[in-house]
Amino acid sequence: MSQLRAAVGGLRRSGPATHRFGDPAEVEALRGSLLAWYDRCKRDLPWRTLAAAEPDADRRAYAVWVSEIMLQQTQVATVVDYYNRWIEKWPTLQALARASLEEVNELWAGLGYYSRGKRLQEAASKVVSELAGRMPRTAEDLQKLLPGVGRYTAGAIASISYGQATGVVDGNVIRVLCRLRCIGADSSSPAVIDQLWDMANALVDRSRPGDFNQALMELGATVCVPKAPLCGECPVKQHCQARRRVEKELASASQKLFGKPAPVPDVEDCGVGGCPLCPPAAEPWDSSLGVTNFPRKAAKKPPRAVRTATCVLERRGCHGAPEYLLVQRPSSGLLAGLWEFPSVPLAQGLQEEEQKEALADHLQAWTGRPVAAGGLRLIGEVVHIFSHIHQTYVVYSLPLDGDVALDPALSPSRWVTEEEFHASAVSTAMKKVLKACEKRRGMESSPGKGSKRKRGARRQGAGSLCPGTQLSLRAFLRAPTAP
Ligand code: SF4
Repeated sequence: MSQLRAAVGGLRRSGPATHRFGDPAEVEALRGSLLAWYDRCKRDLPWRTLAAAEPDADRRAYAVWVSEIMLQQTQVATVVDYYNRWIEKWPTLQALARASLEEVNELWAGLGYYSRGKRLQEAASKVVSELAGRMPRTAEDLQKLLPGVGRYTAGAIASISYGQATGVVDGNVIRVLCRLRCIGADSSSPAVIDQLWDMANALVDRSRPGDFNQALMELGATVCVPKAPLCGECPVKQHCQARRRVEKELASASQKLFGKPAPVPDVEDCGVGGCPLCPPAAEPWDSSLGVTNFPRKAAKKPPRAVRTATCVLERRGCHGAPEYLLVQRPSSGLLAGLWEFPSVPLAQGLQEEEQKEALADHLQAWTGRPVAAGGLRLIGEVVHIFSHIHQTYVVYSLPLDGDVALDPALSPSRWVTEEEFHASAVSTAMKKVLKACEKRRGMESSPGKGSKRKRGARRQGAGSLCPGTQLSLRAFLRAPTAP
């Protein structure tokens, strides 16, 4: 890796123009085209409106900071609603510093990557308690002083809120720059990332750095998109080396078709001779991919497969409506502080009966009384993909009769109605789990759709219980297993 860094360092100074922005006139032209396009075409987004209208630098920086954290790994369309609710609830750093983790998780529920919200709240508390409520005023200080603020977020806040002429490199910028300069080496390698930061810092417009950075990201999000970039509509197409390469390939192919000699390669061209920024020799340029030859990434490690048994423990609340037991996850680690149905990790290869035993043992801790594994009913499997985990929830249900005293010595737990469940800080995966249970219940209660066995069980229940009353655990165990 140090050799690659050294080679890239050399290229920054003297390498082929394909990979550099060496001409100041071209840089000026690119800035102008990109900013003019941004002024015409930028999306109307709440954080942009706030940043443009807010005279107070701390409030402006806070508004940008929240948006940047929410936008990490998350689409703009998903973020807008969360952002508006967040800013309405906590319009200032001071308001956020007073919020609890529970409140933050409730608002964040469904947005994913939950540690982001937690870290945002912790960092706001730090600004209020240790920095007298004043946001650091440079990208360097933002990154140094605020937990959870990395180089990208610091650059975005500083350029957009304070007008600091510093670049940003996120996934969209990586894609645009790699295409503009035909960078086909692994774009996640430190050497290439260093090169892209240098490029972003050199390119950023000195008089409108925030707009320039947003324009570059906007271009990546709306025009220079991953799979089918709209090169014909691109405001910087005349500066794009990837497009130039595609045009040359086409010209060369058509010359060959007519039996003419292939064009002589340009001295500024790259692509041969072990260039550290070109695609590796083992994966050369693929004509069928066109500009999407760039960027390239080393293959990701496949996500780790994890299986967890989870139980929708249900009782009848007042007025007969179902209530579900939720327990709170630890305050650190994956899904920190979120609420979930009681769950237990499963060892590889456990059969259904063994899973039930493991889950019943776990449930006993919450219910304070023995739970018969035979009462657990398999609903099915729900798969949820976290960034690095392929999580399968094996879903069981267990209706309880009578009340259950929850042990306050255990982790926090509570009974919630369906409405309360949806307003709680629960993950999207848990919403899928409840949906699976409701779907199963709906199938069983809908005439003509359930199996004979289910219809038989329903008839038996209808004869012995009040309408709307759920089959109790005891009744469930008495229910016939065959018609
Ligand atoms: Fe991206 Fe195409 Fe524009 Fe090049 S011309 S920057 S590949 S959209």
